[in-house]
Amino acid sequence: MKNISIIGSGFSSLAAACYLAQAGHKVTVFEKNNTVGGRARQLTRDGFTFDIGPSWYWMPDVFERFFSDFNKKTTHYYKLTKLNPAYTVFFGKDETITIEDTLEKICIAFEKEESGSSIKLRKFMSEALDNYQIAIKDLVYRPGVSPLELITPLTVKKIGQFFSTVSKEVRKEFKNPKLISILEFPVLFLGAKPSKTPAFYSFMNYADFGLGTFYPENGMYSVIQAMQALAEELGVTIKTNQKVEKIVVEDRNAVGLVINGDSLASDIVVSGADYHHTESLLEPKYRQYSEAYWSRRTFAPSALLFYVGFSKKLKNVSHHSLFFDVDFEAHARDIYDAPQWPEAPLFYASFPSITDTHCAPADNEAGIFLIPLAPGLTDIQEIREEYFEKIMSRFENITNQEVNNYVIFKESFCINDFIADYNSYKGNAYGLANTLMQTAFLRPKLKSKKVRNMFFTGQLSVPGPGVPPSLISGKLVAGLIQKEITTS
Ligand SMILES: Cc1cc2nc3c(=O)[nH]c(=O)nc-3n(C[C@H](O)[C@H](O)[C@H](O)COP(=O)(O)OP(=O)(O)OC[C@H]3O[C@@H](n4cnc5c(N)ncnc54)[C@H](O)[C@@H]3O)c2cc1C
Repeated sequence: MKNISIIGSGFSSLAAACYLAQAGHKVTVFEKNNTVGGRARQLTRDGFTFDIGPSWYWMPDVFERFFSDFNKKTTHYYKLTKLNPAYTVFFGKDETITIEDTLEKICIAFEKEESGSSIKLRKFMSEALDNYQIAIKDLVYRPGVSPLELITPLTVKKIGQFFSTVSKEVRKEFKNPKLISILEFPVLFLGAKPSKTPAFYSFMNYADFGLGTFYPENGMYSVIQAMQALAEELGVTIKTNQKVEKIVVEDRNAVGLVINGDSLASDIVVSGADYHHTESLLEPKYRQYSEAYWSRRTFAPSALLFYVGFSKKLKNVSHHSLFFDVDFEAHARDIYDAPQWPEAPLFYASFPSITDTHCAPADNEAGIFLIPLAPGLTDIQEIREEYFEKIMSRFENITNQEVNNYVIFKESFCINDFIADYNSYKGNAYGLANTLMQTAFLRPKLKSKKVRNMFFTGQLSVPGPGVPPSLISGKLVAGLIQKEITTS
């Protein structure tokens, strides 16, 4: 039995903790904040409840697979509902496309926009399903140790898709700009532009249209609570308000942590905190990646978020609503090519209280608004206010209702908060993007090359950003550790 210290309590750390405790180790999780969950924490205020970070529950099979590894089901911990509609996309006033809960219904919506598009969609989805079977059932569960992991009889047949992009493949088949935007939307979760995301990642389209969008009662935080409960059932000790200040290494072995000035011994250290920050806790000679390395990576966007309590029920919106009424390319350039605050931003809004009465007092609405941004921008209160006004007036106009006078309160979260709360590199929201050159074995490694018993997990490592990949990352790192213990 090893004494294993885990830094952070996001999805990846909690997953790793569960697997390592199941393998019989003494596991302690150290979280700097006063609650667990990392980017998936929860905000409660005046009877309103908001997920601070993730709000889309996609790939339910990955969650099920995680809990089944412990002979559990998600239903032992939380209640899931499949959303219908899954979401609505607003392209302008009275210009919306609603994505419902089956491919049949989505085909009807496509056909209304572009004649013949439903046939193309079925073909596209069949490829997407094929990719999903290869990627999510198998490839993403490989630890990124060697390039050979990616070479299987099935992936060899798909090699062309690694060198084409989602954007190219979608545009080969579809001409209607709205349908193109909808089909390019799912890969935004992977953090890069669709024109930089390998076509093989169309498995995200299967996650979207094939599997659908789910909602766990009380929000995504109930998944964190489920994992915390499971970890504790397995014997994990979880400590909050424990900011790790240093990882102590002697002769290339991590021997412990310094937390709030106290030294604690460990046999193995795992970090689910942002990779760049974790390396800053090591002496420079034990760091694997230079500042130049990090500055050359393609990071997933940061975000400006607002959590708003409205004193009335809103109309003409869905639980998940996307506002694509401006030029996507221009906003994407401001995120990836020439980082700056966008002139006219796309934004996403979520109203969990449409589905879940726990999220707001009766006849009130809880609203979350998210504008994707380049990491590292100057973040000041005046700019946040300016953008709130910008998106609220567009929101009022497009959804045809007055909302500004019904705001009871609003809280914001942006780049400076990502840095202060999570030690996030340049305030990135969801890690390192999945571009071709940042896929699998090309991502920062789960195991340190310089410190023998030091491991990393989470959205900056393998397999990548998002809640399902973070769960998988925890499993992968625990597997590597266990393999190393049993072979040494
Ligand atoms: C706004 C937003 C929206 C998102 N939307 C979605 C979505 O809808 N669906 C989806 O699947 N994914 C979404 N994501 C991505 C998803 O939330 C993340 O990929 C996932 O939660 C990352 O988990 P993690 O374990 O890698 O890291 P984190 O959650 O960041 O956990 C790292 C933890 O380490 C802690 N830590 C840092 N430094 C220290 C230290 N020195 N000592 C101790 N602890 C430390 C941090 O406090 C944090 O708790 C979203 C993310 C954001 C931010």
